[in-house]
Amino acid sequence: MNTTKQTSSDPALRNLGALLPDLADLYKDVHSHPELSMQETRTAGIAAKRLTAAGFEVTSGVGKTGVVGLLRNGDGPTVMLRADMDALPVQEATGLPYASKVTATDRDGNTVPVSHMCGHDMHVTWLAGATKLLAEARSSWRGTLMAVFQPAEETGEGAQAMIDDGLFKRFPKPDVILGQHVMVGPAGTVAGRAGAITSAADSLQIKLFGRGAHGSMPQASIDPVVMAASTVLRLQTIVSREVAATESAVLTVGVLQAGTKENVIPDDAIIKLNVRTFDAGVRTRVLAAIERIVNAEAAASGAPRKPEITTIDHYPLNVNNQEATQRVVEAFRGHFGAARVRPTGPAPASEDFGSFGGEWHVPSVFWFVGGTDPDVYAKARDANKLNELPVNHSPKFAPVLHPTLETGVESLVVAARAWMPA
Ligand code: ZN
Ligand code: ZN
Repeated sequence: MNTTKQTSSDPALRNLGALLPDLADLYKDVHSHPELSMQETRTAGIAAKRLTAAGFEVTSGVGKTGVVGLLRNGDGPTVMLRADMDALPVQEATGLPYASKVTATDRDGNTVPVSHMCGHDMHVTWLAGATKLLAEARSSWRGTLMAVFQPAEETGEGAQAMIDDGLFKRFPKPDVILGQHVMVGPAGTVAGRAGAITSAADSLQIKLFGRGAHGSMPQASIDPVVMAASTVLRLQTIVSREVAATESAVLTVGVLQAGTKENVIPDDAIIKLNVRTFDAGVRTRVLAAIERIVNAEAAASGAPRKPEITTIDHYPLNVNNQEATQRVVEAFRGHFGAARVRPTGPAPASEDFGSFGGEWHVPSVFWFVGGTDPDVYAKARDANKLNELPVNHSPKFAPVLHPTLETGVESLVVAARAWMPA
């Protein structure tokens, strides 16, 4: 896909071609040096150094490892561009020459493999590229550009950590907040929608209490394994029996743990589950149903104690502002051409990007940038096998470098420019 012709349409994008080799090196470097959530010191250092070199006022350590860059360039709107920086505790299996071999210590003290299997390395590179190009072309726009490199998106903590560290007090309030994510989709395309763009997510841990005994004497026990099994099955009825056909929710039990030996009935069992919803009312109902079923199953087993339900993490519903989205999509169509701007449904993925706009009361827009080789995507689509393409968080998630890299820089620049007067 040839994008070089279109890159000349905006003065800020004229130098993109010349910058690409540097950005490709940056991407490979960040990819091969991934850092776990709230440990992104190297990546943050690179972001800060690049922003400083581009002429931004830089504040580091916002929300532990977050970086904020401001480029004040006369009267005009303030536009905030956000990228997340953290990687995942996943063993990379892409086979790329620059694949991660990194391990790190997680907060439980375990040594874990680390890799950028959500593509936040691409987000860092896009924002580094877009800020440099916009800084170089500052004679062609007015306003304030605010670059935010955020920690710990994967744990749902980073946006809130920056907010709690005074983001809203220490920096100018933006007129719009823009962000983007690399996803499965033909590379060279962007996809957006007004309204809900990513789901609310709630992760819960449920501890069920029974009474352990010898496996040969179940009558002496209150078996938490059976209690947990019934609970897991009954939880499946929430989506199938309590959520209307016109509404949607996902409830996945990802962890079910009990016992250490086949002839010992354990004392307790652990369930960890994840809920995705696209509507505040549905979310409230689903969470209430979980609590009701968990307590009722424990009571049905004669549990000695009520189960403990604790929140592991929560991501807000991420809602794209109607007017701001229209402005971004029109700018995309003007730059990329209509064929490269795809519609999308809301993704059942979750993002803490929504916290910035939601809590600051600023319109925000979040969109997806395709990262799949267009030929591979077309073949999978024709074979009705799109579900088999490696998705974010898969150990084989590997966006094609080109044109994913240039497309995401272009989309960020073009969207920002939609608010910046000449
Ligand atoms: Zn992720
Ligand atoms: Zn992500």
